[in-house]
Amino acid sequence: MDGERYSAEFRCIAGCGERYPLDEIVYRCEKCGNLLEVAHDMDRLREKSPARWRELFDSRVGNTTWPYGSGVWGKKEWVCPGVDNENIVSMFEGNTNLFWAKRLGEMLGMKDLWVKMCGNSHTGSFKDLGMTVLVSMVNEMIGRGKKIQAVACASTGDTSASLAAYCAYAGIPSIVFLPSNKISTAQLVQPMSNDSIVMSLDTNFDGCMKVVQEITKDNTIYLANSMNSLRVEGQKTISVEMVQQFDWEVPDVIIIPGGNLGNVSALGNGFSMMMELGLISKKPRIVLAQAEKANPLYRSYLKGFSDFEAITPGKTLASAIQIGDPVSYRKAIKALRDFDGIVEQATEDELADAAALSDRTGLYSCPHTGVALAALIKLVEKQVISKNDRTIVISTAHGLKFSEFKIGYHEGSLPEVQSRRANMPVPLPPDAGRVREALEKELAARAKEAAL
Ligand SMILES: *Cc1c(COP(=O)(O)O)cnc(C)c1O
Ligand SMILES: [Zn+2]
Repeated sequence: MDGERYSAEFRCIAGCGERYPLDEIVYRCEKCGNLLEVAHDMDRLREKSPARWRELFDSRVGNTTWPYGSGVWGKKEWVCPGVDNENIVSMFEGNTNLFWAKRLGEMLGMKDLWVKMCGNSHTGSFKDLGMTVLVSMVNEMIGRGKKIQAVACASTGDTSASLAAYCAYAGIPSIVFLPSNKISTAQLVQPMSNDSIVMSLDTNFDGCMKVVQEITKDNTIYLANSMNSLRVEGQKTISVEMVQQFDWEVPDVIIIPGGNLGNVSALGNGFSMMMELGLISKKPRIVLAQAEKANPLYRSYLKGFSDFEAITPGKTLASAIQIGDPVSYRKAIKALRDFDGIVEQATEDELADAAALSDRTGLYSCPHTGVALAALIKLVEKQVISKNDRTIVISTAHGLKFSEFKIGYHEGSLPEVQSRRANMPVPLPPDAGRVREALEKELAARAKEAAL
């Protein structure tokens, strides 16, 4: 099989020369302590022409031949070529739709605005793209006799949901560390239902991260956070997939919300790999969007990335990116430098308003997607993004996971948010006359608004 011809390994991002096989339990360089990345044998990959890669990837979309119908494993040679197909733990993640944001675009004067719906996935977030790779590798290691008792992660909600589901599918025990009262009800119930050991810690995400790193030190519990670069490898396929969905044309601008900053690094890696292998010849511009309450990278950006300081994040509605000490900041800065990057931030009011505006055009945006949409609106106003730019906003999770956010918005109970687009149900007796009267009022109000 093709997979045997290609190879990849962990490599230190600092370029100190350290390398490890992908089935070794190692998260940081043992020489200098930096993070690792997955490095592919690019010469081997270059033996296939760009046209043949495009053809191969296109031929696998919608295919049920295990595991290539997955958006991630359809690009197996570029992701994790060494793993046995039988050991792959996949739910045919990826291949999520691009939503043509026609009405939202018109409202902003844009012609070519799209939203990549990564939340339309098994557990409702893009985290599935990386988790399939990580859990597959764990499954393979267990199959080869490695003593791994369980897989663990710290999470702001979506990583734990994804880890729990993939481990349950494979029959591997999982452990999740969650900051108490800082994630949505849906996100908490997901790992509970998938039989994860759920540890609710009285701290924030950064505190959970410290504990999980301690717990996983002796290597019998495998660490599933995105400092483990196997996850970033899977998430990298978002870039290839978006370009593929535009018949291999590169968009002008991509906007992505960021917290621990693994996903923006993944996005950059995907485009770099396509450039290196000749599938594309142009780079998009990458915009990283942060909540103002949790904006360490934005602060660093204002100083030209000359230094980076962790902060204590404030409470934000965008709970999945409420992170002050992002583990992948070095990788993120590299990606932003390589892709003419911009960092923008959004206040609570801006993110909630942007999500509500998008919902009025048929989306159902989670607060993090709201952060990215708010960044879009600000950058279009500042004319940094031009109205003709083909722009893709990455929607990272499904809005249905965030019902407290949605109902709070419409009830007008969210802190620091003016619910300008609130739309509460109209309470009425079952009386056709009264209903007609109320309807006339509502319809007139909407007609007035549409005329503005
Ligand atoms: C994890 C997550 C993010 C942030 O991704 P990072 O890789 O941590 O930057 C954004 N949005 C949602 C919904 C997430 O679950
Ligand atoms: Zn090193």
